Amino acid sequence: MRLRTGLALLGWALCALAFGVKGAAAQSDLDLTLEQYLAQAGDAAKLIAYGQLRIDGKRMICGRRPTVMDPNFDSWGGAYPGFVILNPKRLEGLSTTVKLYIYAHECGHQFVGRDEEAADCFAVKRGRRYGWLDAGGMDEICGFIAKLKGSADHFAGPKRCEIMRRCFKEAAPRAERRGGSVRR
Ligand SMILES: [Zn+2]
Repeated sequence: MRLRTGLALLGWALCALAFGVKGAAAQSDLDLTLEQYLAQAGDAAKLIAYGQLRIDGKRMICGRRPTVMDPNFDSWGGAYPGFVILNPKRLEGLSTTVKLYIYAHECGHQFVGRDEEAADCFAVKRGRRYGWLDAGGMDEICGFIAKLKGSADHFAGPKRCEIMRRCFKEAAPRAERRGGSVRR
């Protein structure tokens, strides 16, 4: 299947994307609509309408975009223009904060395109502003991401973590900022 082939190329580093991805196989997935995705994914995939998604009881939204829960997806999550994919099997056992981070990262791709560091930054800033991410949660995310290898699209874990910690500080209310640590 074309879809699986395309995603398999990208799926081993948190995120499988269809935002201007490289490679002929992946390129063919670019215009995949939600309906086409669901048709290819089969009965195991479940569509969750905007506003209905709960992750460990927490309501999460990404604008008005729906989410597909696909236990056969090749990564923790993915993003196509217009919808987000989560793999409930892969998310099982992760901490709530890490799950929320993964969702927010995939949501970030809807706004920043394929840029992985920008999607990470979007997720972390959103988490801090919405109140589900604190310093302890940041450590959980870094612990999770430390195990991921780098790829053409993603820096290796430690580098990603360093960038995310900077974004976390940038999202802090002014009173919490210290010295020049948040200046670029
Ligand atoms: Zn990503």
